[in-house]
Amino acid sequence: MKILKPLSFIISAMLCLVLLVSCNNPANDGGGDTQNETESQNKPGGNYLADKKFDTDEYMEGFDADHVGISKVGIPMCASDDAYYMLDGRGGGDLIYYYDKLSGTSGPLCAKPDCMHNTSECSAYVRVSLAIDYYDGRLYFLDTDEKNNFCVCSCAPDGTDKKQVGLYEEAKPGGNGFGNLYSFCHRGYFYTSYSRQSFENGEYVKHIYLTATSLSTGETVTLLDEVSNNFPAKNFCVEPEGNKIYIMTSSYVDGDAETAKEKVRFRVLDTKTREISDLCELVPVGDFVRGMIVIRDKGIFIRTEKKDEAGARINYIELVDTDSCTSREIFSHSGDIDLTEECIFVDCEISDDGTVGFEAYDYDINKLTFDKAPTLGADCGISGGVQIVGIKNGVVFGGSLDGRYVGFALDGSAADVLLTLDNQ
Ligand SMILES: [Zn+2]
Repeated sequence: MKILKPLSFIISAMLCLVLLVSCNNPANDGGGDTQNETESQNKPGGNYLADKKFDTDEYMEGFDADHVGISKVGIPMCASDDAYYMLDGRGGGDLIYYYDKLSGTSGPLCAKPDCMHNTSECSAYVRVSLAIDYYDGRLYFLDTDEKNNFCVCSCAPDGTDKKQVGLYEEAKPGGNGFGNLYSFCHRGYFYTSYSRQSFENGEYVKHIYLTATSLSTGETVTLLDEVSNNFPAKNFCVEPEGNKIYIMTSSYVDGDAETAKEKVRFRVLDTKTREISDLCELVPVGDFVRGMIVIRDKGIFIRTEKKDEAGARINYIELVDTDSCTSREIFSHSGDIDLTEECIFVDCEISDDGTVGFEAYDYDINKLTFDKAPTLGADCGISGGVQIVGIKNGVVFGGSLDGRYVGFALDGSAADVLLTLDNQ
């Protein structure tokens, strides 16, 4: 049984899910964290690193976001060393749920006895369930305040000490929903990118935004704010890698969704100077672009779909060469593809006997083989597709769109049901 929906469904669902406010577009005020005086601060663009230690392109364990370009859309979920966290609105309220890796216990992130988990007095309660990440000992997530302002909030790993970190977007009446939402913590900032459409002067206009909230000062700045003229623009996604954030936008050319090819544009934001530069203009990549992932030392991988001669959609991965501005197919499969920092998953699905089935490939497209398959046991009560959200220390975690979350070791040595929401 297939549970997974296409990404387009997820994005549509997110659009419908949240009716928030129209945009207040603060221009980048040129501000930033000025606590780190360096010579480059005198140069145009300044120095906006949150700390001197981030002045490196090397991967920084614990501070660098895991790859987010595709996998975190749709199912907000993150992992610390001790727990998994799931932000879900399908269990009767919008709540932060946890799964403790040591004890195996799970539930709303609330220690109050007899709590109904339905007011802001509850530590698990959030008003919207859009994005969550774990960074340097705390959880960060998007929420709205009592005035319906959109904000970044934070709490301790046990749900205590909840506070608003930064005002993200001020409430305005008559707003419309988000699309293409990606949020992540990276090197001292909480980043969010999203698209939003508004009705201006008799026509729909689509804007795309990238914002950064300092985790230490709460200051929130808009790094990218532009009108997407090719409405309905398709994909807008971002991916951090060191002190760069790769930005991909895609659009149809010569037609509509049924007939057109899709082209993409790559840019890169230098998080140190906050300057955005072009990488490649409109590389043609297929019929339906679904996202990108940047793999260190290998390049930008795009997930796309193309129709075969019978009209069936086949999933592809293309590797973009940003020097020559060309891309080439490196992988195709009829099954669902999930991309994580460590490997490519195809058709991750739990069978009726509780076995977690999948194919996995590295980014040189070598098929990975394991001695045994992870199993949740025949009595796990779960069967169907799993969208992989991430992988940490060899353990993969993800969920399905009907409120089921699982984690399993790639090598089959462990597997657990993290949470099953049954009050939908
Ligand atoms: Zn509670």
